[in-house]
Amino acid sequence: MGTLNLPRKVSVLGSTGSIGVSTLDLFEQACVEVDVVGLTAGRNVARLAEQALRWRPQVAVIEDEALLPELRERLSGSGIRAEAGSKSIVDVASADAQWVMSAIVGFAGLAPTLAAAKSGAVIALANKESLVCAGPSLLRTAKLAGGAVVPVDSEHSAIFQVLDPMAAAHVSRLILTSSGGPFRNATREEMAAATLEQALAHPNFSMGAKISIDSATMMNKGLEVIEAAYLFSMPPERIEVLVHPQQIIHSLVEYADGSTLAQLGPPDMRPPIACAFAWPDRLPWPAPKLDLVTAGPLTFQHPDPQKFPALSIAKQALATGGQAPAAMNAANERAVSAFLDRRIRFLDIPNVVAETLERMDHGRSFSTANDAVESARETDAAARRMADEVVTGLCAA
Ligand code: NAD
Ligand code: MG
Repeated sequence: MGTLNLPRKVSVLGSTGSIGVSTLDLFEQACVEVDVVGLTAGRNVARLAEQALRWRPQVAVIEDEALLPELRERLSGSGIRAEAGSKSIVDVASADAQWVMSAIVGFAGLAPTLAAAKSGAVIALANKESLVCAGPSLLRTAKLAGGAVVPVDSEHSAIFQVLDPMAAAHVSRLILTSSGGPFRNATREEMAAATLEQALAHPNFSMGAKISIDSATMMNKGLEVIEAAYLFSMPPERIEVLVHPQQIIHSLVEYADGSTLAQLGPPDMRPPIACAFAWPDRLPWPAPKLDLVTAGPLTFQHPDPQKFPALSIAKQALATGGQAPAAMNAANERAVSAFLDRRIRFLDIPNVVAETLERMDHGRSFSTANDAVESARETDAAARRMADEVVTGLCAA
């Protein structure tokens, strides 16, 4: 380990979630010595306190202010500062960590991720929604501050690893792979009747509820197409999605000379986290290794556009540009939340998103604020209100 140039001061935003837990588990398994500056969570105060007592950060922040007394109580006598609220999360993100794991879910991750970008830290980016809503600003901010954004999303980590920056001009296509989600083999009729439990049952991964539903609608892949377009400066027509149920090939880069490079690994989020942590070095740890003989046949198919309209909605939003991806993301967050609350049906989710974008376009339109991030915030708020109206209309029907 002595020769590796690893970050020492780190923060984990969203430490209690699926990616946050995998990040701390990786540190444990790799026996890396890190000084944790801050850990943050939304509401899971018990897990946050447990993590804080193990990792001894300077500060632990719970977003829900009503839970601050409980966090204080659980950390009393430990010397760890307990704080609450989204402003304190932004403060943690701005503190002096060299490496920040951005693993809050949804638009709530944007402000802290931007703060980390301004601080010049290396951002390990799991929170794809922040890139979808303000990608160009986020990337520019990180670059100006001397930091970097390293993708954690497995597909983008794969492309990041095989896309030779010296040959970027000769890339003809990016091919993102997708598990196809729990409804890969379902009929549209079966999807129409899908229960919450069926939609949450991802075939290969245990992930947070929001991304699990996004995987089932394939809006996750739609968000990832936008993420790839921004990260790798690629026009939408040169980004393809292929369903690959085994999730062994995480994505591919096709070059103009007919050569295609792929990155492979078992379906596990810790290798892409390790890559983002040690980049440009490689972190040795007892990783589950890929055994191609037992992995079985690797299969591929095109996604069915009738079953998964979210994919073309996302491509359209990317082509429209400006604030359309931020509006799409907000509408999707509200639609997923309504589905998780059992207020709308599964196939209503893409309909709510499409209808919101339609009404935003024809009616009140997107924000025209000069500052791109302010504009994303205003668009997010307007699209949330609009999506809620559409959901209410569906519930009344
Ligand atoms: P999760 O729901 O398991 O965890 C989310 C974390 O954010 C938790 O710590 C939660 O407490 C915190 N949080 C939630 N709402 C918050 C708020 N309003 N303010 C502050 N903190 C809040 O989600 P996850 O599966 O770990 O996903 C996190 C992000 O990583 C998402 O953007 C997701 O798309 C992305 N991602 C996840 C995976 C995966 O395998 N889970 C893979 C690729 C990308
Ligand atoms: Mg992914």
